[in-house]
Amino acid sequence: MWGDVTENFTKALPKAELHAHLTGSISPECLHEVWKRKRSSPAGSQLEDPLSACRPEAEHHDILSFFPVFDKYIYNLCNDTESVAFATEQVLKEFEADGVKYLELRTTPRESLENGMTKEVYVQTVLDTIAKHGKEVLSTYLILSIDRRNTLEQAMETVRLAIKYQDKGVVGIDLCGNPLKGDVTTFREAFKLAKAHNLRLTLHFAEVPQSSTEVELQTLLSYQPDRLGHVIHTTPAIEAEISSRKLGLELCLSCNVHAKMLPGGKREFTDHHFANWYGQSNAIALCTDDVGIFGSPISNEYFLAAWHFNLSRYDLVELCRGAVESIFGGEREKQRLYSLLDEFEKICDNAEAAP
Ligand SMILES: [Zn+2]
Repeated sequence: MWGDVTENFTKALPKAELHAHLTGSISPECLHEVWKRKRSSPAGSQLEDPLSACRPEAEHHDILSFFPVFDKYIYNLCNDTESVAFATEQVLKEFEADGVKYLELRTTPRESLENGMTKEVYVQTVLDTIAKHGKEVLSTYLILSIDRRNTLEQAMETVRLAIKYQDKGVVGIDLCGNPLKGDVTTFREAFKLAKAHNLRLTLHFAEVPQSSTEVELQTLLSYQPDRLGHVIHTTPAIEAEISSRKLGLELCLSCNVHAKMLPGGKREFTDHHFANWYGQSNAIALCTDDVGIFGSPISNEYFLAAWHFNLSRYDLVELCRGAVESIFGGEREKQRLYSLLDEFEKICDNAEAAP
């Protein structure tokens, strides 16, 4: 089974997904189900069918056009505990069906007070759904996101929620949101509090040129992140720092290419900075970011990496093994994933030995 990389192979590969936004991972089909249930309500009747609203034509959108989709559409649709639980369960099922064995979902706690949903109730709902789904095949943990537009008080509230629900599977804090907004120096105390409670830290990093000044990137690095997401518009000095600290990298091929995030408007997968980091000492996790929007499941991301960067089946197994180093879920989860990968490798060896 060590022949060419096929889609069946990348699906069977035991994968860890470390950068997936819960809301962005909801498929248009699932949103359509929620929309059908709500269509009769006054709020639902004003919303466009998600099958057309959430897959804008690729030529007409870029990273900045996605934020209105989340802000105005998906948040308005999934604004009560019933739809949050339903959508979360569908997301878990879809990752599981794609061969993901370990998942760190991230989400910004949000409230909809008219529906009785506080930020805490939202987090509880997601955690309860994860617990109900079980860990037999897919092990899922939660990262709570601070939005760049948050105030320090809002960020502190998120960290306090993360601390409160640490024993229920919250493993880290993320900084996300529109990279043109906010001042990252606002959140120093919030990240400090998270670190003091052994929460791990991942940051959206150098997504667009405007959020990639030396000052901003050095500020973000001063928060002692464990992993970085995207890492696109970096400088040699910043890269050297990332490299010497061996920070885990969450790289999102389809997202970066389709949202036109690569430097100089480059549009080819082969232009992706995966090529620069691959083979270096940093753990690389291929990630989907928002599979509901970009439509490329993580098995396809591994397939694309193999296709565009000429990786073999063996290289992909090793890539998966590398990603395990940077998970936030602890030593037991790491050993579980290494065992799954060893087993998978044995199956491949045996299949090759067979006539
Ligand atoms: Zn992201």
